[in-house]
Amino acid sequence: MSDPITRALDALRRECIDEAGEGALADYIPELSRADPSQFGIVLESHEGDAYAVGDATAPFTIQSISKPFVHALALEDLGLDAVYARVGAEPSGEPFNAISLEPGTGRPANPLVNAGAILTTSLVRGGFERIAAGLSAFAGRPLEVDEAVFASERRTGDRNRAIAHLMRGAGSLRGDVDEVLDTYFRQCALIVTAADLAVMAATLANAGRDPVSGARVVGEETAQHVLSVMAMCGMYDSAGAWMLRVGLPAKSGVSGGVLAVSPGQFGIGLFSPPLDATGNSVRGVLACERLAARFGLHLLHDA
Ligand code: GLN
Repeated sequence: MSDPITRALDALRRECIDEAGEGALADYIPELSRADPSQFGIVLESHEGDAYAVGDATAPFTIQSISKPFVHALALEDLGLDAVYARVGAEPSGEPFNAISLEPGTGRPANPLVNAGAILTTSLVRGGFERIAAGLSAFAGRPLEVDEAVFASERRTGDRNRAIAHLMRGAGSLRGDVDEVLDTYFRQCALIVTAADLAVMAATLANAGRDPVSGARVVGEETAQHVLSVMAMCGMYDSAGAWMLRVGLPAKSGVSGGVLAVSPGQFGIGLFSPPLDATGNSVRGVLACERLAARFGLHLLHDA
């Protein structure tokens, strides 16, 4: 561990183990409560494709809500900004990720990163789950597979998401078959990734839509910019404002304990630690990003 970046990440990881609050595992998807709360990995991937990893960098977990910005990217590629924006807003909701809250009259969800907006966005992507799996795999630079146990667990217990989808269908904002859309959404959330995968996905956004390892173009520059904008405003749910103050980077979290953050033009970071705070964000993941941003002047407005 001779290079300074790995040493800094390792020191950060130790501090967060000692100093982060306890948190709790997500259990509303029963299968997620079986996670090992002690696992903690941090991976930084530069825009040139160099990776720096500490801890449980290759431990598998389901991507959950971190799928949402990438599915949003696919919808933008398929339909363009105006058509997507007409169906799903881009306003921070200030509400929990699973809020039952839609624009009065139209049933349009607030943004693509809360569950309502994500379910609708999934329905917009052409080619269903196959396309989504291929698209997210392209972002990760390797084929991603579904954790069938987590998929079945969420499908069995996902009544709240089912209710949200039916409300949108009733309001006319969600078109198509509710059960089919939800199956695709639950499957996309159950795709298996590692902190190292999240770092590559983040670095692809940092690199304006090009995979920094292979050089392959995954999405257009404009799509990457739109997705990062929405992540900056809405990526951390009802703590998105506090996150922007303290970290100042576009980011996205998921209930299995993943966090992905992007330093545009520089690097992506993937973190994994399952215990969550009250807003559903990884306790250690959030603290690690706060310290990293403060220590290395990463806030987007640092030089403003
Ligand atoms: N699959 C989860 C759900 O829809 C994703 C939520 C999350 O990661 N915050 O409830």
